Amino acid sequence: MHMDNFDYKKVIEWLGFILRCPICGFKYNLQNTKVIDSQQDERLGEAKILIHSDCSKCKSSVMFNVEIKGPEVFSVGMVTDLTGSDSAKFKNREPISANEVINIHQSLRRFKGDFVKAFSAKKD
Ligand SMILES: [Zn+2]
Repeated sequence: MHMDNFDYKKVIEWLGFILRCPICGFKYNLQNTKVIDSQQDERLGEAKILIHSDCSKCKSSVMFNVEIKGPEVFSVGMVTDLTGSDSAKFKNREPISANEVINIHQSLRRFKGDFVKAFSAKKD
């Protein structure tokens, strides 16, 4: 990833001024705002940034997909229950398939044991 030619820090600072929590309207605190992913095309002067922010007032988490095309900026916000580190962890994962859900459902139906033990044993 090349970050040299695009001043993301400036962009984030600027976004901090315009982005508000869609739930309570509170202005975002930059300390709670993280860049999860970014891409840029220097030739076209375009950039895409994925930002995760935690509202310091109502504690909602929101992801913003920001697209910069020359002088125009588009942003789409989405409420999420992922934390900042969850978003970084899951961003490159494949979506869960219907078969995986069915498999889990079936094994849970058969499962007759201690949930806490079963899940803590699987942790790395
Ligand atoms: Zn809020």
